[in-house]
Formats: sequence, C-alpha cells, structure tokens
Amino acid sequence: MILLMGIAGSGKGTQGKMLADQHNFHLISMGEVLRMYVTGKQRERMLAGELLDNQEIIGIVNQVITSLPDDGEVLMDGFPRTIPQAEWLLGQAKAGRFNLDKAFHLVALRQAVKERLLGRARVDDKEVAIEKRFDEYERSTAPLLQWLKNNGVEVIDINAERTPEEVNADIIKRLET
Ligand code: AMP
Repeated sequence: MILLMGIAGSGKGTQGKMLADQHNFHLISMGEVLRMYVTGKQRERMLAGELLDNQEIIGIVNQVITSLPDDGEVLMDGFPRTIPQAEWLLGQAKAGRFNLDKAFHLVALRQAVKERLLGRARVDDKEVAIEKRFDEYERSTAPLLQWLKNNGVEVIDINAERTPEEVNADIIKRLET
C-alpha cells in the first residue's frame, strides 16, 4: 500500500489517478468514497471542510479494502488523516493484511494552492470551507507525518508546487528507488 498525503489542493486526486493508471494500482480516494457513502449531518460536515469521525472512517475504509480483489498494490488518497486512523492502518499492516510501503507527502503552501481550489467546481471549494480544511490539515494531519516516520513508515516529501507532469515524474522516480 502506498499513501498520498497533502493539504487540500496539493494534487492528491490528480496524482492518484495518474499513478493508478500508469502502474495498474487499485485507487482508493477517501473523499470520493465518502461522497458516495455519507448523507445528512456527515455530508454537511464534509461540505464545511471538517474531518469526519475516526471510527466511522475506519469502518468505511475497512469495507472498501475488504471489497478489493487481492491482486495488486493499493494507492490511498486521503487516508489516514489522523493519528488514530494511522494507528489502525499500521495495526492492519502488522497483522499481515498488506504491506505499508511508502507515504508521499505532496508539499505545497496554502497560498500556492488556494487559487487551484477556488477554480474547481466542488461545493466544499468555497473560501470558508477551504480555510477550514487547511486548518484541519495543520491540526490533525501534519503531526501525522512525523508519527508515521517514528513508526517506521518511509515518508517522501515531493514539491507539489509544480505542473502535474513534473510532480508525477518525481513520484515515479521515488517509487522505483
Ligand atoms: P478530499 O476529497 O480528500 O479533499 O476530502 C473531502 C472531505 O472528505 C474532507 O474535507 C473531509 O471532510 C472528508 N474526509 C476525507 N478523508 C477523510 C479522512 N481520512 N478522515 C476524515 N475525513 C475525511
């Protein structure tokens, strides 16, 4: 399993699709999965840019992983985003369910990606929700990068303030080393 991490707008979705097509990976995009699964209050929270409850997310991701045929590498876009989610994932890896190979951290500053987000047509790409997602990232996900390193996962920083093709080439280079 390979993880893709980074703030909203850093290009996780774009890079996930490019990589999955090039390398024949199963791609789990947590945001897409949640847009399929959740309604009501949960959906409102998503649209406001808040993270959803860990247990709920873990339950969903567990079902998605179970539903995949056991015939290829899994690329995760947007999971884990918190330490409890990562604890669960590492526990599953230790239990032999899959190998946790690498985490790519798409590094970009808020200012650099905000315009990209405002240019998309997603309902949660409004200024207030964007800021909320940036704040959630700093609060919950940024500390996770160090936690993963401390727990033996290789975290590779990729400069994501470049064209999708340049970022993709860099990831591929690092994937093969
Ligand atoms: P994304 O498409 O990855 O930007 O995710 C869209 C939204 O889905 C986020 O702003 C969160 O509300 C929710 N979400 C996605 N992944 C997670 C996760 N791992 N934990 C909690 N909430 C998540």
